[in-house]
Amino acid sequence: MTLCLTHIYGGVLPCPWPDCAEGAADAAFEFNGTRVWRQRFGEVFGEPTYAWIIDGVTAAYVAAQFTRRAMAQVNGAHSVADDGFMYHFTDETGLRGILASGELWLTDYRDLRDEQEIRDGQQVAKATFDALRPDLQRETNSLLDTLLAAPLPSGVYVSCFCVMRASSYHWSEFAADSSGAVLEMDPLGFEQLLACDPFAIQFTRVAYIWDVKAGLFAHLATWLEELVSFDLARGLFARDIYLREMTQIFGELLPMCKDVSLFREREIRVIVTPAQSKTDLASKLAVRQTNERRYITTRDVLPSFALPIKSVLLGPKFTGDISKLAIDGLKVPKFVA
Ligand SMILES: [Zn+2]
Repeated sequence: MTLCLTHIYGGVLPCPWPDCAEGAADAAFEFNGTRVWRQRFGEVFGEPTYAWIIDGVTAAYVAAQFTRRAMAQVNGAHSVADDGFMYHFTDETGLRGILASGELWLTDYRDLRDEQEIRDGQQVAKATFDALRPDLQRETNSLLDTLLAAPLPSGVYVSCFCVMRASSYHWSEFAADSSGAVLEMDPLGFEQLLACDPFAIQFTRVAYIWDVKAGLFAHLATWLEELVSFDLARGLFARDIYLREMTQIFGELLPMCKDVSLFREREIRVIVTPAQSKTDLASKLAVRQTNERRYITTRDVLPSFALPIKSVLLGPKFTGDISKLAIDGLKVPKFVA
């Protein structure tokens, strides 16, 4: 099992980049009796990309691998809040639940409350694919059409944070008209969670600007085209396998997009996609449901994970009984506008 965070590669083979410390000296080798070789593909930001190609096997998984790599390069949440923290807004009930249980919910993306939010990514995707369409093969266009027409993919779980703590907009939008609270967290405290399965757990900024969102979908379409062409030339194009891979990656891209009118939210998200797990994460998860909202928790993903809560800020209109909050050892200032 290799995890190369430099080249954003994860899999049973060594990292395919030449001269990588996690890589292999030989450009071709036998794996389970089959020939595997290093293939160079197109450039991103002036650097060529590489993948292992297995003799006689479709390279559909490479299109997904390269798209995921581009997503991390374009939109990874390397830097977070101006002050180094991030903030999870919630109502009073949510606050009590989080403090008592020590875990956060990750909601099934299909059950997020705002329908328009979900549609936004699909609209940008359609416009981007339409613009590229004349340059793409028939097989690629057919796959993109199917992605656009399909229902939202299952198995994508999202938890939301803001990078700003003190804004009346955030208090009213996300903390029940200021009667809720915000948990101040240390993003570095999430590293343990991300590291337990880096290809199934992403920490990403939400993209609001059209060009950023379109760029993400253009990466998807461009890699798909390159790999479809590669496999067509080898006589190994397998539409169903491409569709399965691209449906999953499309499902990971949609929660990274929101309408530009929501720009001031400045949201970042932890996105968990168990289907991408290299550690069989899906078998450890018990999906629960409350009020038509399907969710998993941070503790499902990593049982030993402790939320890195630094303090709790109570909303200007918070009226709950503070003595019944499980806030041992936490700093709990009443919010002052
Ligand atoms: Zn590498």
